Amino acid sequence: MGKAGAKEAVSDYDVIVIGSGIGGLTSAALLAKSGKSVLVLEAHDRPGGYAHGFKRKKYHFDSGVHLISGCGEQGYCGGQVIYKTLQALELLDEIEFISINPFSQALFPGFSIGLPQGIGDFVETLSKQFPTETEGLKALTELCLQLSEEITIADELMAEVDLEQAQQLMPALFKYRKSTLAEVARQFIKDPKLLAVFASNWPYLGLPPSQVSFVYWSTMLIGYMVDGAYYCKGGFQQLANTLVKGLVRFGGQIQYKSAVEKIIIEHGQVAGVKVNSQKISASTVISNADFKQTVYQMVGEQYFPKRYLQRIKKMQHSLSIFAVYIATDLDLTAINIGHESFCYQDFDHDKNFSRTRQGDISWISITVPSLVDPDLAPQGQHLLMLTTLLPYQTAETWKQQKPIAMQTMLELAGQTIPNLEKHILFIEGGSPATMHRYTQNHQGSAYGWDVTPKQIGPARIQNQSPIKSLFFAGHWTSPGGGIYGVSVSGVQAVQKVLGVRKQSDLWGLYE
Ligand SMILES: Cc1cc2nc3c(=O)[nH]c(=O)nc-3n(C[C@H](O)[C@H](O)[C@H](O)COP(=O)(O)OP(=O)(O)OC[C@H]3O[C@@H](n4cnc5c(N)ncnc54)[C@H](O)[C@@H]3O)c2cc1C
Repeated sequence: MGKAGAKEAVSDYDVIVIGSGIGGLTSAALLAKSGKSVLVLEAHDRPGGYAHGFKRKKYHFDSGVHLISGCGEQGYCGGQVIYKTLQALELLDEIEFISINPFSQALFPGFSIGLPQGIGDFVETLSKQFPTETEGLKALTELCLQLSEEITIADELMAEVDLEQAQQLMPALFKYRKSTLAEVARQFIKDPKLLAVFASNWPYLGLPPSQVSFVYWSTMLIGYMVDGAYYCKGGFQQLANTLVKGLVRFGGQIQYKSAVEKIIIEHGQVAGVKVNSQKISASTVISNADFKQTVYQMVGEQYFPKRYLQRIKKMQHSLSIFAVYIATDLDLTAINIGHESFCYQDFDHDKNFSRTRQGDISWISITVPSLVDPDLAPQGQHLLMLTTLLPYQTAETWKQQKPIAMQTMLELAGQTIPNLEKHILFIEGGSPATMHRYTQNHQGSAYGWDVTPKQIGPARIQNQSPIKSLFFAGHWTSPGGGIYGVSVSGVQAVQKVLGVRKQSDLWGLYE
């Protein structure tokens, strides 16, 4: 293991990580702890990617991320993935996660409900509104739990058993791996309103129930409902900063304003990168950057097998997000609003998504992080973040379209928070072009490749590339998008680099 304390600067590294999103930082810090010399190169002036924060006046805003799972002490092998990463890096005392319960609220015309943590409370709360659906709801939620548990052990099991045994030990995973949420949910729930409530968090994965993978959905739902939903005290920039602290503590380095131009390939394997017109050598490179940029611009398609390139051409990426960042002097504790509320005009999520795809803003989510972390704003004031999914191509020039989109979202927010427009102390918009500018993700994609049944599991771009010593971490690779997903991807990339087959063995190395 590496020892605490900075190493002398070198220009020849064991590992270079391109990008300091949470996936990249997870890999980098764990590899530094494993004794590797690690350099992270980040294009922006701070770490975090979509988890970065920014300050305006006295307000601390999150640019994107507002709710995560995976931070709890309970879980497979003694903790969940973010908890175990921070534990391995000896950082658990340096960060605080605030539990969010209910983890979200679903608001529809004439109907609203909070979704509480805990399967028992979740089923009971929804059953009160839909009493004839109790048994189906319970069975569906328990199936989600079973799937989520099978996914957690899949990696370990596949290392030990053959396919037939795997099918017996993970029956739900094999049965539902090709199903969408809608296909499965309809077998258990009949009332379309309950289906809409059950699936109300679909924007977290960027796809409506008829398209999103039931397996990926289940891990996300159980993550929030059973493992726990959290906000990071001080904003999610703190999560990124804490991972950087771990990286540096174990001798790793990070350079900001350093956009990598090229990944150098020599004799069919990685030899380093070109950044600011200089070559830095490394025997291993992990790209946390946009996937197409990595393949076509940084490496060059001539180095990849034809079949790999053909596959990339067929893959679908997620939509982007339009965000409005607001400070208000309204007393938001006085109205019935929680940390996160999804506000819809229609119970039909396919309609909601189809309008989104056409660039029409008809629903929003409202996040109020200052309700759980009042230090983000001066006393008596609150921060709001309004978000909606949108395609990058919605506007020819986002500069013109931005104020129009902001106004539409403000009007939608006003239906839940009366008089909001009269109580705005600060307002700023972030368009899909903004998302792209700060992270370089293709068309400001919020979650990387869509998590459809055809693009998850073995069908997703794997952490190991076809080029020797080139790996991927982040939402363009396995397992998928969201902070929980990219944290797992960072750990998986470390396993590939170190040649450690089972995740439990990796954690064992850090004890
Ligand atoms: C508005 C918004 C809200 C979201 N809310 C949530 C949420 O509440 N909960 C949740 O779990 N998920 C949320 N997501 C999704 C989640 O944020 C992402 O899936 C996740 O953060 C992606 O992490 P990543 O590791 O792939 O890196 P990214 O965050 O994509 O960061 C990539 C990094 O690489 C850097 N980079 C790119 N190219 C180069 C280069 N050539 N050289 C050097 N550096 C480079 C970028 O500057 C960036 O820092 C949200 C996304 C958005 C857009």
